[in-house]
Amino acid sequence: MICAVCEKGKLKKGSIREVMFGVDLGEFPALVCSNCKESFTDEETTRRIQQIARKKKLWGLGRTTKIAKAGNSMMVRIPKPIASFLRLKIGQETFIHPEKDKLVIEAK
Ligand SMILES: [Zn+2]
Repeated sequence: MICAVCEKGKLKKGSIREVMFGVDLGEFPALVCSNCKESFTDEETTRRIQQIARKKKLWGLGRTTKIAKAGNSMMVRIPKPIASFLRLKIGQETFIHPEKDKLVIEAK
């Protein structure tokens, strides 16, 4: 089978390590492209990955949020499910820094 993404490589049986928001979900069987390394999982495996992500309360945790103005600074609202997942508390000290084009807020 030819890869639908690059249309050059062949798909071979292999395995992939699935990571969501930095949390390891495990290793799963997949077809992997010999050229671009894109991987494809079947319906059952995709469902299993979703189940594990739900169990670990990771499913749907990513959100869109707008940057607001707070005096001369900018403010990012942290949605409640993410705050709960990370057990963040009001007044808690965090470390904020860029990582390439990402904004990282580390809970201490
Ligand atoms: Zn490919």
